[in-house]
Amino acid sequence: MSVLLDVRDLAREYPVSTAGGVRRILHAVDGVSFSLERGRTLGIVGESGCGKSTTAKLALGLLPATRGQIDFEGQPVTALRDRAWRALRRRMQLVHQDPLSALDRRLPVGQQVVEPLVIHTLEDSAEAQRQKALALFDAVGLRADLFERYPHELSGGQRQRVLLARALVLEPALLVCDEPISALDVSVAAQVINLMQDLQARFGMAYLFISHDLKVVRQIADEVAVMYLGRIVEQGPPDALFHAPAHPYTEALVSAVPTPLRGTQGRIILKGDPPNPVDRPSGCAFHPRCPRAVARCREEVPVLRPVADGRLAACHLAAAAPAMAAA
Ligand code: SF4
Ligand code: MG
Repeated sequence: MSVLLDVRDLAREYPVSTAGGVRRILHAVDGVSFSLERGRTLGIVGESGCGKSTTAKLALGLLPATRGQIDFEGQPVTALRDRAWRALRRRMQLVHQDPLSALDRRLPVGQQVVEPLVIHTLEDSAEAQRQKALALFDAVGLRADLFERYPHELSGGQRQRVLLARALVLEPALLVCDEPISALDVSVAAQVINLMQDLQARFGMAYLFISHDLKVVRQIADEVAVMYLGRIVEQGPPDALFHAPAHPYTEALVSAVPTPLRGTQGRIILKGDPPNPVDRPSGCAFHPRCPRAVARCREEVPVLRPVADGRLAACHLAAAAPAMAAA
């Protein structure tokens, strides 16, 4: 497997003024590293404001990073300019959270799938562009007669399919999906997730899949990163994370997912809301809400390190991975 997207020590800071006129730094994303292989799915989960959408925008080069390195298909995203940048950008596409605002209300949806081909001057003729867009309509399960319709004439699920077709028409190697199903009701959302899995099997692109919904991420992702206050606090295969979370924050998120057996019983209710990232708590940033916190947690920042089952966790109490047997 080859690495498609490699992100190292990514950070994004914003200067802010507090009520007293004091200038402070908001650490929206703070030292995030991950890599994503071709054709695979990395899910990023966490509460709103944890930095997951900012991470997506940084990875796509839509927002300049304060620090860090992003390589896509072996090229540094941040260093490219103009034509090289446009060529690379075509290979990484964003799928929005809200299909209605992402689409142009005044244009038929078919035209909006053709548009990227026109912008990037792909295909030989207008007819070839139309045929390609129609093939994508078919691939995402939209009837050809919807091609001339306007966004408001389509259902939410159909609009999300249009957005997928529009992203896929450029044959990207990566789709960054920021809460792609959060505006849809449960049964439609499930259909879109199934469709996304089918499309990945067929076209082979990788997904960076951002969601606050751990259950959905578990279904679609090969690897999951849990973010809290701008940092990854746990990362690993979804089943391991679900069955034996190594970080108390992951444990709380997992406990909030109702199961048929226990319903919502056993849910860990965290104290308070996530702190303001301008006033990042000392030591482990999760300590004011952590049911397991000990004295050390207030002072020492836990680093993300290998723990059991091929996972990484940033918690002082997580047992280290067993040492590899000497060769
Ligand atoms: Fe909780 Fe301490 Fe682990 Fe942080 S380091 S998650 S406060 S136990
Ligand atoms: Mg968001």
